Amino acid sequence: MLLRAQAAGPRGLPNALTCELEDWFHILESDRVPKLEDWSKLPLRAERSVDRLLDLFDRTQVHATFFCLGWMAERMPQVVRRCQAAGHEIGSHGYAHVLARPANQAAFREDIVRAKGILEDITGSEVLGFRSPGFSVKNDNTWFFDVVSEAGYRYDASIFPAHHGHGGYSGSDPGPHVMATSGGPLVEIPISTVRLLGRRFCFFGGGYLRISPLPVIRWGAEVLQKQKRPLIVYVHPREIDPDHPRLPLGSWRYFKCYNNLTTTLPKLTWLCEHYRFGTMAELASQFEVRSTRLAAASLSA
Ligand SMILES: [Zn+2]
Repeated sequence: MLLRAQAAGPRGLPNALTCELEDWFHILESDRVPKLEDWSKLPLRAERSVDRLLDLFDRTQVHATFFCLGWMAERMPQVVRRCQAAGHEIGSHGYAHVLARPANQAAFREDIVRAKGILEDITGSEVLGFRSPGFSVKNDNTWFFDVVSEAGYRYDASIFPAHHGHGGYSGSDPGPHVMATSGGPLVEIPISTVRLLGRRFCFFGGGYLRISPLPVIRWGAEVLQKQKRPLIVYVHPREIDPDHPRLPLGSWRYFKCYNNLTTTLPKLTWLCEHYRFGTMAELASQFEVRSTRLAAASLSA
């Protein structure tokens, strides 16, 4: 029996658990990482990890959101359908792990439109949400929100409101909110951060989850719940697969990518056993009413 110390998120806002469905070689911004044209020569390992996550989510009654790479979905549509059939949400992580950078706005737009189409063909359902590779929205590429909205997504989960290697955005509310974009209102759900000594920190995903001791993660989660803010967690399949092949990264990147891999699944299990999690779409839907009102207000203005 599950004994969860905390109820769902504040004001009825659910916490959300997310998985970026990509594989072991989808590391960003290194010339030692295989290029797109070489990906198909590499062995894929994500399916087994996704199945482990599905087992954990089933056992702990968690509904999660899988932000899938279109490239992965083309190669393992059965995995995408398995996630969907288990009641999880399918979101988009783009097609080829393209960063949102000022120099490649057109390529980024094309990439995220392509991924949405592929995922909708596989699932037969509208893909509502997007998370960019590397949380790559920064203060200097706010065109990002217009592009995501114009591509047809209804919510975005790409803001990392703290320092981050590929992103880091300080220009907005660090909690869920509605943004006005050229494509209409867009619900934004940033990753959860906690303020400590005047700075914001994340303990709830990727390398941050791996490096943070469980008592720190628990403290951060309790701070969020007391502040009536939802807990948003993210994980990659490779992070619960400690035996996956290593890329010849430089020492700092090697540490960041491969440190503490054996701790991810136990920490994730603890979180699933102690907190209630819904999908990002469920969380975003809490803002749809406001979003609709916003749209109506802008039409009548
Ligand atoms: Zn990614």
